[in-house]
Amino acid sequence: MIKYIYGTVNSGKTLSLLSSYMDTLISQNTVFYKSELSEPYGFITSSKTKMRKQCRVFDDKFNFFLDSVKADVIFIDDAHLLTDAQARQLILLSDEFLIDIRLYGLFKDFQGKTYKSVIELMSNEKTSLFKIEKQCENCGSQLAYNNAKVSDRVIIMEGKQDNDSKYMALCDDCYRRGWID
Ligand SMILES: [Zn+2]
Repeated sequence: MIKYIYGTVNSGKTLSLLSSYMDTLISQNTVFYKSELSEPYGFITSSKTKMRKQCRVFDDKFNFFLDSVKADVIFIDDAHLLTDAQARQLILLSDEFLIDIRLYGLFKDFQGKTYKSVIELMSNEKTSLFKIEKQCENCGSQLAYNNAKVSDRVIIMEGKQDNDSKYMALCDDCYRRGWID
């Protein structure tokens, strides 16, 4: 079983992951992963509560199939950063080894494109999607569906995703307008 739990930036995905882990059975062999792009030091940390859990880190070359066949439960933070090949490895682990796989990540990038890993995961009929809702960080009145890259109150549509820029969760109206208040 694969669950993809997604939300915008700042929606508490990591806190949700850590809380969900607390509910797993202590006897289960649980493995945690996070992308080395966002976490080079090997910890999943919730910025909201400072809870943290040691994890393994993955890069583009990492093979989940070789690493986690013995796990009962796999948690992956920043799952949108998986490659489509890694998404297929996880589908195989779920189908063949009945591993309970729980992925936490974004749905769309700052340009509004669905991540390739998400498309690959959704191509598997047995993947279920769960959304963490978040109010728009600009107007506060509507639900956020967009991860905007913001510089000097202007929404940036060009360039690459990076860790140094500011990202905000915005509703459709605020995102399309192109700037924030
Ligand atoms: Zn808004």
